[in-house]
Amino acid sequence: MKKNKTLTTAAGVPVSDNQTSLTAGERGPVLMQDHHLLNKLAHFHRERIPERVVHAKAAGAHGTFIVTEDITRYTKAGLFSEVGKKTDVFARFSTVAGEKGSADTVRDVRGFALKFYTEEGNWDMVGNNTPVFFIRDALKFPDFIHTQKRMPQTNLRSETMWWDFWSLVPESLHQVTILFSDRGVPEGIPFMNGYGSHTYSFINEDNERFWVKFHFKTQQGIRNMAPEEANRIAGEDPDFHTRQLFEAIERGDYPSWMFYVQIMPEVQAENYRWNPFDLTKVWPHEDYPLIEVGLLEMNRNPLNYFAEVEQSAFSPANVVPGISFSPDKMLQARIFAYADAHRYRLGGNYEQLPINRPRGAEVNNYQRDGFMNPGDNGGAAVNYEPNSFGGPQANSAYKEPPLKISGDADRYEQKRGVDDDYVQPGNLFRLMPSEEQTRLINTIAGSLKKVPKEIQERMIVHFHKADKAYGEGVAKGLGL
Ligand code: NDP
Repeated sequence: MKKNKTLTTAAGVPVSDNQTSLTAGERGPVLMQDHHLLNKLAHFHRERIPERVVHAKAAGAHGTFIVTEDITRYTKAGLFSEVGKKTDVFARFSTVAGEKGSADTVRDVRGFALKFYTEEGNWDMVGNNTPVFFIRDALKFPDFIHTQKRMPQTNLRSETMWWDFWSLVPESLHQVTILFSDRGVPEGIPFMNGYGSHTYSFINEDNERFWVKFHFKTQQGIRNMAPEEANRIAGEDPDFHTRQLFEAIERGDYPSWMFYVQIMPEVQAENYRWNPFDLTKVWPHEDYPLIEVGLLEMNRNPLNYFAEVEQSAFSPANVVPGISFSPDKMLQARIFAYADAHRYRLGGNYEQLPINRPRGAEVNNYQRDGFMNPGDNGGAAVNYEPNSFGGPQANSAYKEPPLKISGDADRYEQKRGVDDDYVQPGNLFRLMPSEEQTRLINTIAGSLKKVPKEIQERMIVHFHKADKAYGEGVAKGLGL
């Protein structure tokens, strides 16, 4: 048995009694001067921080990324500089719609967020287990998320809200098809892929830009859970996926993912069949094959859930030299939204928290003060720029190549052809074996059954446009 340390207050003062309050006489009231009691209660009242609006329920793990193939012709990012190079990573795997205590085995998209602690600062790869998303313009995002959350009056979730929105926003059909397919309920975190989903850019030493998509393919193989089994487990063990990941890592059964990229030379974006910056589209592998980069392995459990998983804060704005953004409208909005959400949830100095601060790189800037500033706040160093006292300066060597833009400022729908929203969902439907098509159709019909007929009919038109058999199957399932 370990020898117990002396209990102290937060100020480090030894505590004489942690079980009985200080009272005026044996039956008398509690004394104000029992500040240990007051402090204990007051801190307890402040234990909860705002829950994430989305991705509230999650499991986290530490791990390592190792480069297996040379991609330096595409990117100068230091983490890819040589085969064999290792970088520490923290990952947070989440569901999207449910609250912090919600069940893991529900039909939902999964968040797949990685923080690479590189020597050039943190690279956050904030993705999902699906290669596309429901919408391609962030102006729709708060409305879409409202449909996934709870109704204003009853505080109940509502399939009518989901299908009403999806039936009126056909760009969602691709993601809806993935969500209602077998992959909508993974057997566990180790058994799903991760995708950057957006198009990003790579910049090489010659300052050439390439458009890039990120893929993390599970080395455990894709495994999904049948809906009946998922429903049963949701009732019996709502934290099933969290427990499964933790226990796998504890026993040394480390899940891993092979990291691949798809690369599009900058000039090809203009005339490609698909808008390469549309988040509802993939780049077919036939056009842009997967190129191996390295191996990601999750091999260490967090010691403290709140400190490491809850306080971890990922942002697509965190890119390192050699990796950058693209004109993807959803990505542009997420560059702002994630950091803004963390400022609200954790405070303006959230990047100074141990799980978020860079490990391989120094932080040198002129940001000072603010709530909860845990470091030395820049010490005695100069806090303005320009200055004559050796303060940090920007380095134009990190300047990106200019991006050519033309056209009128306007609000563009970004469609390429009338079939734009239907071809890729149809391709996905057609690549499924027929038993999987049947399960997809049954799952959709099972959910659509609960919504008004007018919405059902609008959805049938979309499924039919993607593939005749898809539309007819759902219509039959609904008895239409
Ligand atoms: P490919 O046949 O070259 O690639 C198919 C991709 O689909 C593979 O990555 C595979 O992932 C994945 N896949 C296979 N079965 C399913 C399923 N039942 N549900 C979801 N994904 C599945 O075809 P394309 O590249 O032309 O893509 C065709 C369709 O596949 C797309 O419209 C898209 O819906 C889907 N897809 C495409 C991806 C891409 O980046 N091109 C990525 C993921 C899905 P795995 O090898 O892990 O089984």
